[in-house]
Amino acid sequence: MVAQLKEKRDTGIIKYMRATRAVINVDYLQKNIEYIKTVTGAMLCMPVKADAYGHGALPVARAALASGADYLAVATVGEGEELRNGKIDAPVLLLSIPLPGEIKAIIAANMEVFAADEDYIDALQNSAAAEGATIAVHLKIDTGMGRIGCTPAQAPDLAQKISAGKNLGLAGCATHLAAADSLAAEDMAYTRMQLDAFTGAVEAIKARGIDPGIVHAANTGGVTFYKDSWFTMVRPGILLYGYPPASKSPLVDYAKIRPLMELKTNIVYVKTVKKGQSVSYGRTWTAPADTRVGTLPVGYGDGLSRQLSNQWSVRVGDDPVLRPLVGRICMDQCMVDLGDDEARFGRWDEVTLFGGGAPHAGVMAGRINTIPYEITCNINKRVPRVYKGV
Ligand SMILES: *Cc1c(COP(=O)(O)O)cnc(C)c1O
Repeated sequence: MVAQLKEKRDTGIIKYMRATRAVINVDYLQKNIEYIKTVTGAMLCMPVKADAYGHGALPVARAALASGADYLAVATVGEGEELRNGKIDAPVLLLSIPLPGEIKAIIAANMEVFAADEDYIDALQNSAAAEGATIAVHLKIDTGMGRIGCTPAQAPDLAQKISAGKNLGLAGCATHLAAADSLAAEDMAYTRMQLDAFTGAVEAIKARGIDPGIVHAANTGGVTFYKDSWFTMVRPGILLYGYPPASKSPLVDYAKIRPLMELKTNIVYVKTVKKGQSVSYGRTWTAPADTRVGTLPVGYGDGLSRQLSNQWSVRVGDDPVLRPLVGRICMDQCMVDLGDDEARFGRWDEVTLFGGGAPHAGVMAGRINTIPYEITCNINKRVPRVYKGV
């Protein structure tokens, strides 16, 4: 049970572990990646931003590369540096625009970048020249996401500017889809418009005699619903972490995709609560009958949303009947109604909050009106990650 949980992690040997931990099934990740690579036949860029959606950037990056990922994508320069410090030498693409003061570090970490305007391209060229280095640039074209990107009309001139930069190379052309995970008619028409605009821009770049490099557009929605968004590389994130879109896909068999993360803990205290007694802050739950209530050492301070108070049930041991969390979730603890059968459950029993034998993070997300990305990203550094299948 709780006894000897010893794990070797990137930070060294941990002598003991708290009950609450996130189990990351690395073997599932590898299967997910191999399957999506087979389906798309394209190069694969594995997004490992936000500490690999909360799963741990280095172990995920290593496993992804071992299963055939070609690129890694990060959101901050620091995330790129973390990969390099971890001895990862695969291409790392920075998805967001940094401050000018960060460009030197981008060069030092040999990262590739998205660029979409003249000023930034000039800044990249000047810094690269000063360092005697070259930077691989992917022209980011905004076809409807409204975040970062030049207009399709500006794309040929900017591609030319990047190509002409003595210390720059046009490594790719990319866009990002805003609504590709929805099969609503309006969203499908919008995605179609985005893909047409992107294809047009890439053709115009080619018509100038410029090699567009790696052409990439597909996030999870693109991979699952739009074969013609795959181009030379795909960038699905949440799909590879195990959470396909809600609608069934004609291209991807969701039965082959498994969620990686399980949030586990152990019951650390059990007591009898009499009918009419309340549990936790604000007295939002009162026992309808005599029952036994267990305390779990996990709360919103670990990233378990307080919105789940009285809204979620957990798996105790391997019992098939889920048990409800009762009362408000506290910062460090929450309570579970174990029922009145003393023989069944007790102190130290293992509890799964999501994933594994319990409903996964996508189901939890649906319960509180958010997305699985936010559920896994929010599990914070107080929760040790245990890597299974490495
Ligand atoms: C995060 C991100 C992705 C991956 O998106 P998913 O929805 O997780 O598939 C792809 N491309 C860009 C530019 C991103 O920022």
